[in-house]
Amino acid sequence: MDECKICKRILNQAHDPLSLDCGGDCYGCILDVERELHHTDIVKFRDRIIGLETKIRKVENTLLEFDMSKSESFKNPFDK
Ligand SMILES: [Zn+2]
Repeated sequence: MDECKICKRILNQAHDPLSLDCGGDCYGCILDVERELHHTDIVKFRDRIIGLETKIRKVENTLLEFDMSKSESFKNPFDK
């Protein structure tokens, strides 16, 4: 009888839906792994957005300073 490599649950037990064999791991553990991956992706994505926002703010500040100190006719390329 096969058991889950992660939690040692006996696989393919009719009374236990989480015991479904997912390539040697039970469905319960696969669910946990998927949740973990998903969570990591969201954290990475959020960090990336925060990083981009910081960069955009720096560019905006630079443009603003440039606009005010160097040229009255300078046009912000982000303005349409
Ligand atoms: Zn398991």
